[in-house]
Amino acid sequence: MTRDLHSAADLTWPEFRDRLGQTTLLVPLGAVEQHGYHLPLDTDNVVPTRLALALAERVDGVVMPSFQYGYKSQPSSGGGGLFPGTTSFDGQTFISCVRDLITDLARQGQANFLFLNGNYENTYFGIEGIDLAVRMLPRNQVKVLLVNWWEQIPIGDLQEIFAGQFPGWEAEHAGVVETSLMMFLDPARVLADRIEPDVSWPLATYTVLPEPPGLVPPSGVLRGATGASPAIGARIFGYLVDRIEAIIRREFTP
Ligand code: ZN
Repeated sequence: MTRDLHSAADLTWPEFRDRLGQTTLLVPLGAVEQHGYHLPLDTDNVVPTRLALALAERVDGVVMPSFQYGYKSQPSSGGGGLFPGTTSFDGQTFISCVRDLITDLARQGQANFLFLNGNYENTYFGIEGIDLAVRMLPRNQVKVLLVNWWEQIPIGDLQEIFAGQFPGWEAEHAGVVETSLMMFLDPARVLADRIEPDVSWPLATYTVLPEPPGLVPPSGVLRGATGASPAIGARIFGYLVDRIEAIIRREFTP
């Protein structure tokens, strides 16, 4: 295995020191969450981590080790917490982790951060952690972005790619987009023969706690992934890298 000099995990401390304050740090936010019968539990880590590594190459950034655990999957957006393997942090824990990472790296001299989120439910807990850190630090010492990758591709483009059959983001959990991306990024870990034929299940429109069983299909997938392909995954991945690169250049160019 060779070293990736855009991955902080591969750097020595003097190499990391020499990059501090000179570069954008990319931090993937993932989750350990069921992704149906056909995708692995770390799907929400794979996508933002691979995007971050591709982006770091483009902009000469550095990718920090990812947040492997995220905030809790919800029945209306990710299948919910009743599936074995879906293992999550409480909101306060997640907020504190994000805040602590920023303040500790700011102490070392880092200024520019981009959190690249792969799990919808992380969004506002991530923003809260960033906001707490920014308010603790001297004004303008850091600049922090949070990017949800799925928000960077227009729905019109997805309808074109999937010939009008894209079901919408609210139902995209281990669906056509995530499955296509995984087929492109990590094909050996996609169990394509276990993709369920078309699923149609009414999405939950309100929250009940404790979570009752039966709000999502037995597979944990809200809509079918039929139509996913590695070629589509490559196309979407390339689009996302271009789009997020433009965000980095716009926001972090002095
Ligand atoms: Zn996912």
